Amino acid sequence: MLLVVKDLYLKRGDRMILKGLNLEIEENEIHAVVGPNGAGKSTLSYTLMGCSGYEPVKGEIIFKGINIVDKSITERARMGMTLAWQEPARFEGITVKQYLSLGMKEYDEEKIYKALEFVNLCPDTYLNRFVDDSLSGGERKRIELASILCMEPDLAILDEPDSGIDIVSLDEITKLFKHLKKNGSSVLVITHREEITNCADKASLLCDGRVIKTGDPKEVGEYYKRECGKCLVKVPSIK
Ligand code: ADP
Ligand code: MG
Ligand code: MG
Repeated sequence: MLLVVKDLYLKRGDRMILKGLNLEIEENEIHAVVGPNGAGKSTLSYTLMGCSGYEPVKGEIIFKGINIVDKSITERARMGMTLAWQEPARFEGITVKQYLSLGMKEYDEEKIYKALEFVNLCPDTYLNRFVDDSLSGGERKRIELASILCMEPDLAILDEPDSGIDIVSLDEITKLFKHLKKNGSSVLVITHREEITNCADKASLLCDGRVIKTGDPKEVGEYYKRECGKCLVKVPSIK
């Protein structure tokens, strides 16, 4: 297993958000996480990546056989984990070329070119632009996706990459996942879109801070629609 999350509890303020969450992701697996708003999906992604303020109360996060709960975000990144936020990042004063080379194992201009082409951005137009407000949200989203390609992570976590779907199409996102998988990465994608869930190898349903079902994406998706709908009803835990 690439990632094993065991009995994870996470508090924000005085509220317990993750309440005994279990999740496993294999090497080379695309794993979709679905669930109603407020279930704790984004919280899970920040906790896995080790963002500050997301230190678990209890539980283990085993990545490549090592419990990483006490490791910093930088250490986790070095170990091969990366997170793409719901909102694409801005970095004043950093060019696209610098940004894309940041997470690379070794600098490779051709890889940078190919990554930009993969997300349909012309390299010669974008390489020397700054990753700031002079780029549109859609352009920054594409650059962020290109940066994941450049990093060649073992585990790429994406929180609702489909949220600004007018700017990056579902087809482009599923194509990116297949490409990452072909190159040996695993993907954990949080999504509300059936098209993305259906391109995954497995899916998990997160409800009220716990994974209540894992399995075939179509089955999990249908269970979710049937039992949870789009509302916040609590559903019974099932094995
Ligand atoms: P999702 O991504 O599944 O929609 P989130 O992980 O963003 O859900 O949020 C899970 C729950 O945690 C929500 O009910 C949210 O209101 C709550 N939450 C987030 N941050 C805090 C905080 N700082 N204090 C208290 N509750 C919080
Ligand atoms: Mg949400
Ligand atoms: Mg969220």
